[in-house]
Amino acid sequence: MTNKFTILGCGSSLGSPWITNYKGKLSSNKKNIRTRCCAHIQKGNLSVLIDTSPDIKYQLLKNKIKSLDAILYTHEHSDQTSGIFEMRPFFWKNKKKIPIYGSQRTIRELNNKYTFCFKKRFGYTPIMKSNVIRNKFSIKKKNSKISIKSFEVNHGLINATGYLIDKLAYISDCNRIPEKNLRYLFNLDYLIIDCLKIDKHPSHLNYEQAIKLIKLVKPKKSILTNLHTDMDYFRLKKKLPKNIIPAFDGLNFRF
Ligand SMILES: [Zn+2]
Repeated sequence: MTNKFTILGCGSSLGSPWITNYKGKLSSNKKNIRTRCCAHIQKGNLSVLIDTSPDIKYQLLKNKIKSLDAILYTHEHSDQTSGIFEMRPFFWKNKKKIPIYGSQRTIRELNNKYTFCFKKRFGYTPIMKSNVIRNKFSIKKKNSKISIKSFEVNHGLINATGYLIDKLAYISDCNRIPEKNLRYLFNLDYLIIDCLKIDKHPSHLNYEQAIKLIKLVKPKKSILTNLHTDMDYFRLKKKLPKNIIPAFDGLNFRF
């Protein structure tokens, strides 16, 4: 099996269009229909999710992802976690608890909010096993192994987690990278980075800030994600240099 990274969703917290069918400045095109931020890593036999968005069931069915071995969480916000209860069929299929990984804070929040996933209650069996991440950890299955480095990024009122897998970094939600953690972002093949909107935002990088970061760390390829309703795919594509692209749902590549 080849190693494949898939952007399952690249929309901001409400996706696009919104539930009211509002689509802001987006032209009518499939590339502008965005589910909530979420990604998938296939490495050998290992199938690992980054976050469980509210759209996760649709995202996995659409991308024909039929197995799941672990979940990495970037942070506890609803647009990254509220699809967690959809994971039950993987527990039944694997016949073992799904290991999840996140910062101490994220794991605590998930345990408090989704108690039924972690503690036996009223005859319902817990389906997940929590793991508080360290700076370096790995996920293994038979001959397959994913080595991961995690680092903190600022995301408004909280810190979220950025993940580094080989030469790929995934940072879907952040407004600032602490200086000491910039070292994880040099020499990358792929940087998948928060780029919410044109205007400044207290919890996310805007266009100017994301481009400034890309120019500083110079990855071979950058993919802008967490895109709001002012971030039209085609307008962005026209404006950006070749090695920076706006994400779209289902975008995948070998790494
Ligand atoms: Zn968030």
